[in-house]
Amino acid sequence: MLISDTHLHSFFSSDSEASMEDMILQGISLGLRTLCFTEHYDHDFPVTDDGLDFQLDFDAYHNMFLQMKEKYASQIELLHGIELGVQKHSGPALINFYSKIGGRYDFIINSCHLVDGVDPYEKMFFETHTPEEGVRRYFESILDNLKVYPYFQTAGHLDYICRYIPEPRPEFHYEEYADVLDEILKLLISSGKALEVNTAGLKKGLPWPNPHMDILKRYRALGGELITIGSDAHRPEDMAYAFDRLPDILAEAGFQYYALYRDQKPELIPID
Ligand SMILES: [Zn+2]
Ligand SMILES: [Zn+2]
Repeated sequence: MLISDTHLHSFFSSDSEASMEDMILQGISLGLRTLCFTEHYDHDFPVTDDGLDFQLDFDAYHNMFLQMKEKYASQIELLHGIELGVQKHSGPALINFYSKIGGRYDFIINSCHLVDGVDPYEKMFFETHTPEEGVRRYFESILDNLKVYPYFQTAGHLDYICRYIPEPRPEFHYEEYADVLDEILKLLISSGKALEVNTAGLKKGLPWPNPHMDILKRYRALGGELITIGSDAHRPEDMAYAFDRLPDILAEAGFQYYALYRDQKPELIPID
């Protein structure tokens, strides 16, 4: 049983309405031992038609987190994280953010939510890109992002874009993107970063979590050892989604441990 969910959102994220307390109570009822909230902060996000801007009230989040951590200290471990949406031009702004308050977080996820300023979640993205072009451009963006912003622990949902390819989805073949993916994975490994296994992929109908099994296997084959686990839940009922399927998936990919970060340092926990 995997007992930590380290990718969670509450209403401090633009796209969640869940209270932090409801998420915590669900975590307790699921028997989880550790939760890490990772609220969205996307530097320079183009505001959506629904008015979502993915900015974060850092201090309100911090204060509520500390209050909840103290209130539930005897029942569940709560960790303070953040999911940064990075773009190529975000480096200086995010490094500035980190130098001011980055030290308060246990865990920082480096995620890519935009390709050339457009969220592939938006329908127009795949109206102007073939699946192959879109996916390649997404991976190229991740590679840029990893180079411009170094203060993070894990690379979030590495093939997030695959959730949004319209049906019929072509099968994913690592070889088609091996040049850029190998570069991403080698960079993560050489800089001691983890790769996230995000079960929202399964939730959204992909046959694998994000990323695809072939990416997980390749990361392992290249020497990657650090993986982090999260459901990316934005509401209580999605917490720890499909965690019962992860031990087999992770064993097949060659992993025996996952990493749990406190104060940005990993503890390796056996997967059983
Ligand atoms: Zn994300
Ligand atoms: Zn997320």
